[in-house]
Amino acid sequence: MKKDEVRCLGIECTAHTYGASVVSSSGRILSDVKDIYKPPEGRGIHPRECAQHHSEVGLRVVKEALREAEVKLEEVDVIAFSAGPGLGPCLRTGATLARALASLLGKPLVRVNHAIGHIEIARLTTGVEDPLIVLVSGGHTVITTYVDGRYRVYGETLDITLGNLLDMFARGAGLPSPGGPLVEELALKGSVVYELPYVVKGNDISYSGLLTASLKRLRSGAKLEDLCLSIQEHAFSMLAEATERALAFTEKKALLLTGGVAANRRLRKVLSQVAQEQNASFHVVPAKYAGDCGAQIAWTGILHYLHGDVSPLEESYVKPKWRLDEVDVPWRGKG
Ligand code: AMP
Ligand code: MG
Repeated sequence: MKKDEVRCLGIECTAHTYGASVVSSSGRILSDVKDIYKPPEGRGIHPRECAQHHSEVGLRVVKEALREAEVKLEEVDVIAFSAGPGLGPCLRTGATLARALASLLGKPLVRVNHAIGHIEIARLTTGVEDPLIVLVSGGHTVITTYVDGRYRVYGETLDITLGNLLDMFARGAGLPSPGGPLVEELALKGSVVYELPYVVKGNDISYSGLLTASLKRLRSGAKLEDLCLSIQEHAFSMLAEATERALAFTEKKALLLTGGVAANRRLRKVLSQVAQEQNASFHVVPAKYAGDCGAQIAWTGILHYLHGDVSPLEESYVKPKWRLDEVDVPWRGKG
């Protein structure tokens, strides 16, 4: 540990995951601990029940993150938390603990945008400097890159996210949560691709019609494996089309896939082909940091802190609908 190295404790709590992590300013991830809320079978996340889970596990997760990092609470220099976007009650559990720790220790507090956390942890762990980014998770489906002080959006979902699509279809089929990995496994056994809604408007995507039509087909007796294959092929092709246009337009030389759905092998294959056709390199966030985690918040907290971007306690509110293109990212410099 160098003398001038700064250590940040980051808390993630936007939805199902309560995560905590300690990351140093040299980019070393010293710990990453999580406890994930699982809704009762057949149901989605109920914000109040999920927040109840978070308030029960929060302190233990933070203590474990400190122990794993071999850092005492007093040795933490900065506290960061995910302030949005996410479920209000869940966000408030993390914010409350972060504020309490910051005021107890007299340490600076940083509000982190969760989507920027997904992007920065992917840049840190892959080492890619200036990519076009595809962020696909339970909360996001967005194509973005850095231009002039902010991450700008070059395409996004107009309704539900890719993670929602897969999870809600799986739930409709009676599969447990999270549905994405199960849809991926079942799709491998499918052999027929049904015609389903394929909706790209401008460079934005709509998945809700695909979900409705798929559930209807399921009720009328279509084979589950074939439907999983069909949903993936349609959903990933829409995303590929928008990504290809964004790559051609921005002329970025690298494509970076991040967020929980980045674990899907078929999606990786489809997007790697897009990158190849546009002469860009292709990168994927490591599986360990693909889903929501404390490390994404701790590392982004460091980046904000090193640029003097901290929040006074009275301004440390949560923002459930916080868009990534509202956030200044001074650490990227001229882009
Ligand atoms: P996050 O919100 O970033 O934690 O990501 C969670 C989302 O990723 C959920 O919607 C999961 O169903 C989805 N997911 C995780 N693994 C896979 C996979 N192998 N294929 C598709 N979706 C996945
Ligand atoms: Mg997420």
